[in-house]
Amino acid sequence: MAYITLKNINKIYPNGYHAVHDFNLDIEKGEFIVFVGPSGCGKSTTLRMIAGLEDISNGEFMINGKRANEMGPREREVAMVFQSYALYPQMTVFDNIAFGLTLQGVDEDVIEEKVKHTAGILGLTDYLDRLPRALSGGQRQRVAIGRAIIRKVGIFLMDEPLSNLDAKQRVTMRSEIAQIHQSTGATTIYVTHDQTEAMTLADRIVVMKDGYVQQVGTPYELYHDPVNVFVAGFIGEPPMNFVRGTVNGGAISFGANKLPIADLLGSKASQYEGKEIVFGFRPEAIELGSQPESVVVNAMVELTEMLGDNTNVYIAAGEDKAILKVDPHDTPEMDTEIAFSIPVKDIYLFDGETEKVISK
Ligand code: ADP
Repeated sequence: MAYITLKNINKIYPNGYHAVHDFNLDIEKGEFIVFVGPSGCGKSTTLRMIAGLEDISNGEFMINGKRANEMGPREREVAMVFQSYALYPQMTVFDNIAFGLTLQGVDEDVIEEKVKHTAGILGLTDYLDRLPRALSGGQRQRVAIGRAIIRKVGIFLMDEPLSNLDAKQRVTMRSEIAQIHQSTGATTIYVTHDQTEAMTLADRIVVMKDGYVQQVGTPYELYHDPVNVFVAGFIGEPPMNFVRGTVNGGAISFGANKLPIADLLGSKASQYEGKEIVFGFRPEAIELGSQPESVVVNAMVELTEMLGDNTNVYIAAGEDKAILKVDPHDTPEMDTEIAFSIPVKDIYLFDGETEKVISK
């Protein structure tokens, strides 16, 4: 039995807006689940329904095998960390972390011990006497996390907890969140629009778009086996390259290049003749020059972007464009023609109409 079950969960707001459609997910105890997708796709709405901050319009929500639709937030034993830290500005770090326990009337000695333990996990031991305004953004967010984890709750919910931090703090805090999860083992559901956060933190990712779950899987599964164009383009940085074209004689055009796909389509080749196909390949899944077992493409280098550990090469073949990720030592000159190879095993084909992956 799963620890948390969402079964055909829907959210229709009072104004009639249908924000979440038939959301289905089983979550195991201790899992780190990330909801990811562009702004407005229904991530926060789903999280808030789990938290008990938003009514579930229909469907069934269960915790530990018990229906929880009607339970209040406290009864669900969830703690939530918001994007805005929501700290009490006039209270010290100690009092902010202790707040929930103080309200519950927990013994002072116990509170002191727990706050110190929590502060230790979060590296806040030296800051307990400070007011929030004397902390950095990252430290404030750690206080907010401390306030949530000090209560022994089963489920830990986080809504874009890193979005108010600068890029460097985000990276640090990301690894801290992973460590906190490891040390507490709490079941965590985390919302973000950032695919890197999702990929680095999650045991499993739920990709959402327009209120619909697109795919649920491990970071590895989503990267290697995306079910549709949306997931393929959302997971991975720079995103997967897509070439759209009508199949003609078992190939589609990429500028003046012909990309043969009949073999890849196998028994479906004739069915797709004259139909639109999306040909996908990842920027990092190419090799320069002409290689065996590959589709070879000639293109012009429009721009190169040195990133230190690799170089992004922006190429054009006629009107079609793509990004290639190459070793910095192999960075080509701008405005020259290059050949590159896409290994056949790394090619993805999607139906141009449904945008679903075409299985061979
Ligand atoms: P996300 O977290 O993925 O950015 P949200 O869950 O916040 O998305 O919102 C999903 C959709 O529901 C958005 O189109 C948003 O405008 C809409 N929405 C959110 N809250 C309300 C509300 N109280 N009433 C009506 N529509 C809402």
